[in-house]
Amino acid sequence: MPTYAPPTVTFVRGRGSELWDDAGRRYLDFLSGLAVTSLGHAHPVVADAICAQANTLLHVSNLFATVPGPQLALTIDRLLGGGGQVFLCNSGAEANECAIKLARRWAGRGRHGLVSAYGSFHGRTLGALAATGQPTKHEAFQPLPEGFRYAAWNDLDDLARQMDPTLVGAVLLEPVQGEGGVLPADPGYLQGVRRLCDERGILLMIDEIQTGLGRTGRWWGFEHAGIQPDVVTSAKALANGVPIGACWARADVAAAFAPGDHGSTFGGQPLACAAALATLGVMESEDVPARAAAAGARITSALATMPGVTAVRGPGLLIGVELTPDVLAAQGGAKGVQMGLLDQGLVVNAVTPTALRLAPPLLVSDDEIDEAVTIIGKVLQ
Ligand code: PLP
Repeated sequence: MPTYAPPTVTFVRGRGSELWDDAGRRYLDFLSGLAVTSLGHAHPVVADAICAQANTLLHVSNLFATVPGPQLALTIDRLLGGGGQVFLCNSGAEANECAIKLARRWAGRGRHGLVSAYGSFHGRTLGALAATGQPTKHEAFQPLPEGFRYAAWNDLDDLARQMDPTLVGAVLLEPVQGEGGVLPADPGYLQGVRRLCDERGILLMIDEIQTGLGRTGRWWGFEHAGIQPDVVTSAKALANGVPIGACWARADVAAAFAPGDHGSTFGGQPLACAAALATLGVMESEDVPARAAAAGARITSALATMPGVTAVRGPGLLIGVELTPDVLAAQGGAKGVQMGLLDQGLVVNAVTPTALRLAPPLLVSDDEIDEAVTIIGKVLQ
């Protein structure tokens, strides 16, 4: 169906930070499938785990227990500090749907309201779309589920006005608005949100689908603010490219669900969970948050002074590069620059009409960074 713009390149193979198209041309992948292949393409540990699990057990349904699912849930819980429970699903939108339903169950009838931020992105299914604070994305699909309200990004006073505790059970925020243009939350903002949620008995739910698992230089984006959420959603990089999603909640919050309240045929199935366990194992042994912090600093300092760039945003390896009006006018906006970079063998994306998004694999090498920076410099010139 015509849901995506016609593709410009057909990729047939990848290894680490490199991709090859169907004509044999090599590219550097500084997008990672939109922050998914954080360990790079064809990582041997993940590939071996997928092969081994495919030769052992793919699926039996959630009527029965399997081994990798509970192991993965325990690992995610440990990475989030413990004391929680996990629902496993197949995508980011599904992880957020789980969070939205859990919040409604926890808060009870009448307090089903959910506040999110303008400019946010939480997915394309109807609940996640309603939580996405972009009215233009809503228009064609009205009526959406009721109860969703929005506050200006990074504006605590506006959020406080929306957080009526008689109507609202949860707040859902990204630590860095990814699709919105790589716009980090101020640490003081998230700390203020935590305080307001505590005072008013409202759940703080953090969408870590793009920011989690080392991408921002910490395991989780909310750690930059030193807060602890009540609910966390994860997906994208969790199995390095195999579809999976997870919704974590503090155990007393998760206890609001009863058998039959939620489910998924494929959620928690052994193949995706084995891939995720292998991915998290490599992430821990390689200390990917530290790698992302160091690599991010190298890219950011190289781009900050580059002609054609007005600002570089975002922690770790989720980087927004704002371009000058001159470059935008000469090259047909950020989209034109994206196409120019692709032409020179560098994959990135235009996250807004004026900014590029860079999200390379977290194991990217210094040589690959320097190669990408050289290409960007050449194209912006
Ligand atoms: N939440 C955030 C922050 C995202 O960036 C995305 C996807 O870009 C989603 C949710 C939706 O994830 P998915 O496309 O896997 O449904």
